[in-house]
Amino acid sequence: MSQEPNYKADLVGVFGHPVAENPTIVMLEAAFHAANLNWRYLTIEVLPEDLAAAVTGMRAMQFQGINLTIPHKVSVIPLLDDVESDAKLIGAVNTVRKDGNRLIGENTDGKGFLRNLREGAGMDPGGKRFVFFGAGGAARAMTVELALAGAESLTIVNRTPERGEPLAQLIRENTPAHAEFVHWNHPYSIPADTDVVVNATSIGLFPDVSEKPDIDYDSFSDSMVVCDVIPNPPQTAFLDEARLRGARTLDGLGMLVYQGAIGFTLWTGKEPPVEVMRQALAAAFD
Ligand code: NDP
Repeated sequence: MSQEPNYKADLVGVFGHPVAENPTIVMLEAAFHAANLNWRYLTIEVLPEDLAAAVTGMRAMQFQGINLTIPHKVSVIPLLDDVESDAKLIGAVNTVRKDGNRLIGENTDGKGFLRNLREGAGMDPGGKRFVFFGAGGAARAMTVELALAGAESLTIVNRTPERGEPLAQLIRENTPAHAEFVHWNHPYSIPADTDVVVNATSIGLFPDVSEKPDIDYDSFSDSMVVCDVIPNPPQTAFLDEARLRGARTLDGLGMLVYQGAIGFTLWTGKEPPVEVMRQALAAAFD
């Protein structure tokens, strides 16, 4: 006896504006295909004034979840039924999952970085000293997750004090980690006892591939792990400087892959095919 046909796919995707260049579809569709799941990832343009209607629509169409990108990561919060405590602290949601009929907000940006650190460099953040360049959305998610995971200290180096100082204060007041803000108005020299250095600015993103943060690069040492958030190109001028000085490096492509892999598991409950996802994304950036 042949099986009844089932043409209904499970739907997920991303709401953003502008969203056309968001590459997440490439790795999620590759993952669904590899895992033999009848799921679809849709890249959906949603204007800020239409976000509430879009969330009502995804409920009506029984989406299994959604990613949020610029400019929706903060404004989606009041539209959800609950938000995980780390995402509440970060103040932004980039992934929504369904729990029965309830929509739950998560933030996987920082978690993707943590998993890349653990899997890619074999390093646990517990007791480690971090220097971060940047204090935007990515830096906020990463530093909060690191502080919650037991990092000893976080130095936040940022050009604009109005963004850097409140982030250091948020971490000091809500986690056991030490956090300090440094105003970035001169080439910054990395303290020798630093374990991990992270570029969490947008400097070096395609097409500005020759740009790099204003750092005294001779302060890098071979005992440091140096990480970049820039996924495209994964090989940045910043990471080149680190590698020249013998440091281990982690690129932003790995972070993005793990961020997507965490979303895959939140939605499907299954193990993510990480290598398939990495290859699909790398090919998209080629
Ligand atoms: P935001 O716009 O929120 O923050 C950008 C940060 O970069 C700010 O701290 C800003 O400083 C700083 N910055 C930008 N240009 C300069 C400059 N010329 N000199 C000094 N500082 C500068 O962006 P996001 O935090 O959302 O994203 C940052 C980068 O992270 C993007 O390139 C994005 O693609 C990447 N990203 C990667 C992810 C991954 O998984 N690999 C995930 C999320 C983001 P100031 O406060 O002074 O303006």
